[in-house]
Parts: sequence; C-alpha cells; structure tokens
Amino acid sequence: MILIAGAGIAGLSLGLTLHQLGLPFRIFERVADLRPTGVGINLQPNAVRELFDLGLEAELDRIGIRTRQYGFYTKTGLPIWVEPRGLAAGYSWPQFSVHRGELQMMLLRILRERAGDVVETDAGVTAFETDSQGVTLALAGGRRVSGDVAIAADGIHSAIRKQMVPDEGEPIWNGAIMWRGTSPGRHFLGGNAMFLAGHDTQRFVAYPLTPEDPATGLATINWIAEMRVDPDRAMAKGDWNRPADKADFLPAFEGWDFGWVDCPGLIRASGTVYEYPMVDREPLPAWTEGCVTLMGDAAHATYPVGSNGATQAIIDARKLGAALRAHGVTRAALLTYEAEMRPRAEGILRANRGKGPDAVMQMVEDLCGGVFDDLEPILPREKLAAHAEHYKRLSGFSVDVLNAQPPIIGPMEPVA
Ligand SMILES: Cc1cc2nc3c(=O)[nH]c(=O)nc-3n(C[C@H](O)[C@H](O)[C@H](O)COP(=O)(O)OP(=O)(O)OC[C@H]3O[C@@H](n4cnc5c(N)ncnc54)[C@H](O)[C@@H]3O)c2cc1C
Repeated sequence: MILIAGAGIAGLSLGLTLHQLGLPFRIFERVADLRPTGVGINLQPNAVRELFDLGLEAELDRIGIRTRQYGFYTKTGLPIWVEPRGLAAGYSWPQFSVHRGELQMMLLRILRERAGDVVETDAGVTAFETDSQGVTLALAGGRRVSGDVAIAADGIHSAIRKQMVPDEGEPIWNGAIMWRGTSPGRHFLGGNAMFLAGHDTQRFVAYPLTPEDPATGLATINWIAEMRVDPDRAMAKGDWNRPADKADFLPAFEGWDFGWVDCPGLIRASGTVYEYPMVDREPLPAWTEGCVTLMGDAAHATYPVGSNGATQAIIDARKLGAALRAHGVTRAALLTYEAEMRPRAEGILRANRGKGPDAVMQMVEDLCGGVFDDLEPILPREKLAAHAEHYKRLSGFSVDVLNAQPPIIGPMEPVA
C-alpha cells in the first residue's frame, strides 16, 4: 500500500498515475472540505502530455484555455521578447492556462470516479515512523495507518518534511509580494496570450483563463501585480489564501495602461485580491528517509517564476509512478525517483532565484531604462532567444527534446 499525504496537484496526479498502473494507494488530506482555491496557473507541454496520457484532454479543454503566446514587455508595454507557446511553438502538446482550484477539483473528481473512495479528507498527517516493514503515518485525531511506502505531497508547509528537517523554519522570503486576482476583461495581443511587463522591483503579469463570452465579449483574466516592499513588513510566509487591500499596490500601477491592456483597470475590476510573498525553501541534500519521500512543493517549493510549479509536481508524480512500476513498492523505487528529480529541481530552484526566463525584463531596464526605438543594438534577439531556450532545457520542456522523448509511462488503456 502506498500512503500519500496531501490531495493537491501533486498528490492527486500521483493517485491517478498509481490507479493507471494498478498499484494500491490511499490519500490523506488535511482539509475537511476541499474547495477550488487559488487563482490561475500555467501547465507546460511536458505536464500536459502527462495529463493527456491520463485521459484528461477533454477535461483540460473544459476548464482552461490553450496558451498560444508568451511575452516579456517593458514597464510602458514595449515588447522585449515574444514567443509562440504550446502547439503554436511546434510542441506536440499544448500549454494550458487554468484556475488552480478548478484543476484540483477536476483531478479529485476524476480520481474518485475511477478509483472510488481513495481520498480521505479531514485527515492531516502529523508524523511518520519507518522501520524494516515499511512506514506508519500518524493522523490528526490519533489514528495511525501503515503501508509499504509514504509520499509527502503536503505542500510548502509539509509536516513530513518538517519531521525530516526539524530546524528548517519558515519559507524564505525575498522581499517581493504578489497580489493576485481575476477580473472580467477582453483578451489582448491576439488572444490566448500571456504577458509579463516591468522589471525586478515592479511587474504585472496577466493571461486569460477562459475564452471570451460570445454574449458579453468578456473573459476571466488572471493577473498578478508584484512589488518589492519593506522586508521588515510582517508577512504570513506561504499562505495562498490571504485576502489583501488593493490600496496597498493599485496606486503604483496607475500609469500602467499600455493601450493594448489596462492594468489598473484590471485591478479595479477584480473581486477579492490575495497576497502571497515570493518565498521558496533551500534545496535539501536528500528527499528520502526510510520508506518515505517528498514530492511537489514539499520537496522543492520555488518562486512561482517560469510558470512551472504545478508542472514540476505533475512530472514528479509520473516519474514516481514509473519508478514504482520498475522497482516495486520499495525504498529502491523512491531512491531512483529522487536520483533523477532532486538535481533537476535544484537547478530550477536556483534558476528561479535568478528570475529564470523573466530576467530579461531587468536586463532591459538596466541597459536603457526600458526606453528604446530598436532593441536589437541594445540586446540582440539572438541573446534573448538563447536565454529563453536555456530555461526550457533546464525545466524539461525544450520543444525538440520533449517531442523526441519517449513517454514517462504512456497512455492509459482505453476504458472498455
Ligand atoms: C490554497 C492554495 C492556493 C494556491 N494558489 C496558487 C496560485 O494561485 N498560483 C500558483 O502558482 N500556485 C498556487 N498554489 C501552489 C501550487 O498549487 C503548487 O505550487 C503546485 O501546484 C504544487 O502542488 P503541490 O500538490 O505540491 O502543493 P499544494 O498545491 O500546496 O497541495 C498540498 C496539499 O496538501 C494538503 N496538506 C497540507 N498539509 C497537510 C498535512 N499535514 N496532511 C495532509 N495534507 C496536507 C493541503 O491542504 C493541499 O491540499 C496554491 C496552493 C494552495 C494550497
């Protein structure tokens, strides 16, 4: 029996994978009543390929949109680097923009439909014990469950990671806050496009999560306004659901109407706004203790740079599944998974600390204050292209590499 702590994107993707492989598992989730919390996220083609292999193509099309274009712009809306994404970039699989909570609810519903009653809610994991026989998890309320291996998919505040690394403390904050919301608005830049504008100390990111409604012309636009603030400001480090006051950041974005998109207008049009500090955790020298290993944010919480957090959680799930299939439900399987994924996760974490692909915005700010008629003599396109490609290669979604790669597990048997 495989015990999984957490029914987030990581835990549910693992559950669906283990069901595909016919391996027995149970998921223990702390929250009593899972709700569609969070705002928008992006799924890169390498993760979308895996969700398609799980038979979820139509479900993804129902809850999200296929991202066609991705671009970096200056603080006045001048284009720095704009590239096609997903199918438009030549991938065999699209990139998706989806609401995180709707993705989580979809994965949960499909898992229950396929595998039955495998997710226990109101069942937070508080501790683990491993011995030669396997592992026992202690649950809130005093119950104990035993299995052959346990997987910690319990997010950035993982109780299992805390037991493995007791002195680690709170996530590390870099002094920036992301205010996040969704607003009714028109698509921009030709539709299904994501943009990032500004530089390291102030930026705005937006992308649509739905098509435009034929009746109103309006879509749901996801946006993130980010600024550096006083690092001594008290922050709840890693609470994704903390409501915020627009007055804290709207004034700084008042001038950011680029003509093709009105950033302050989007902020004003949104309902509740949530704030989240830009936090991550130090990479660990090991993820596996006895028959217990870490995955998703429990293993490698990074800055949400490069639209990559949920993607990495899904890839972890598939790699873990492949290792469990190859080595049986054993510690050896957990070590095989860790040996491949831990160095990759550390590389992404360090790249994200250097702002990952987004670093080109600050480069342009440093080189010319974001003012230019022709960017080519200041920052040649060749250099921008190499920078974009470097991050994709590191994260496993370079177009030629991904298209040529064999699947991690392969598609599900068609349901009879
Ligand atoms: C409420 C919420 C909102 C988010 N919103 C965004 C967003 O808007 N944008 C973005 O980029 N990322 C967001 N994220 C993070 C994003 O989902 C992750 O970075 C990524 O998907 C990796 O997923 P994960 O499953 O590892 O972690 P998570 O998605 O954090 O899931 C962890 C799960 O484990 C459960 N859990 C926690 N502790 C325990 C425990 N002790 N025992 C059992 N279960 C436990 C949690 O309730 C949760 O369901 C959000 C996460 C959460 C929890």
